[in-house]
Amino acid sequence: MSRPTISFEFFPPKNLAGSFRLWDTLNVLAPYAPDFVSVTYGAGGTTRQLTHDAVTTIHKTSGLKVAAHLTCVDATKTETLEIAQTYADAGVTDIVALRGDAPKGQAFAPTPDGFQSSLELIAALRDTGNFTIRVGAYPDPHPEATSYQQNIDFLKAKFDAGADAAITQFFFEADTFFRFRDDCAKAGITQPILPGILPIENWKSARNFATRCGADIPAWMDETYTAAIRDGREDLLSTAIATELCTDLRDGGVDHLHFYTLNKPELTRDICTALGVTPQIELSEVA
Ligand code: FAD
Repeated sequence: MSRPTISFEFFPPKNLAGSFRLWDTLNVLAPYAPDFVSVTYGAGGTTRQLTHDAVTTIHKTSGLKVAAHLTCVDATKTETLEIAQTYADAGVTDIVALRGDAPKGQAFAPTPDGFQSSLELIAALRDTGNFTIRVGAYPDPHPEATSYQQNIDFLKAKFDAGADAAITQFFFEADTFFRFRDDCAKAGITQPILPGILPIENWKSARNFATRCGADIPAWMDETYTAAIRDGREDLLSTAIATELCTDLRDGGVDHLHFYTLNKPELTRDICTALGVTPQIELSEVA
């Protein structure tokens, strides 16, 4: 089987220690030659400048293709498009365009004069002609979707508005992704849908987040993690579970894997190694 293409999500550092951690993460994972890396935008638009600084620094120093996440929260249309323009000016050509959430899990409230939905943001970015636009997709339907089909129809609307590809929220079973992928195809979606893989650093937090996202949590995961945490082998279990998930996805025809690294490279590195994805280049060669 051919080598899958891969990509990595990072979050922007909030302090000096976080900057070192991101740099370490980049040093460990850049040699795996990702197609692109992406940098998140804090809930509620809280990391606007930090995201910008992280994106442009990675772009300049590593030579990797960097996708900047951008949301509609707490900014007017003009302000949001100004941020996008600073990316275009810096040579950053990839954006992950999202509606976003308010901080602390509150419901999204559009800003007066701001983009009212991801569809408006995507269309405006498309009109600039400057960007490859990726968007969020939800194999376990988004909590605000009114039905399973509406969740898919809304993704189709995002492609119709100008998106080039979608990255999914994480999920726990390959069948969840396959069902979604096949139903998207039936709805006329032809663009790539990249599965998002969460290497589970901490089951309790991953479980809480999955519950908030409305993800299906298989019963066996609770039992397996309880025993693994008791025996101090949570990381080994997480590596095994994510490797098996990725293998199942590969067997089902998936050729790109997007990893949510949480700026902790070890699990992602170990999963890549277990999948036979080995380092291709040194960071210094990329720059
Ligand atoms: P949308 O797809 O626009 O909306 C979600 C769902 O709500 C839709 O599927 C649809 O069913 C319903 N809906 C929304 N608007 C309408 C409408 N006008 N009419 C009818 N139905 C509607 N959050 C951050 O804050 N920062 C990040 O950097 C970030 N990165 C992410 C990366 C990925 C790959 C993913 C999958 C999510 C990310 N998120 C991030 C989380 C995201 O902001 C939340 O999931 C948010 O609730 C939805 O954003 P969206 O653009 O995917 O929403």
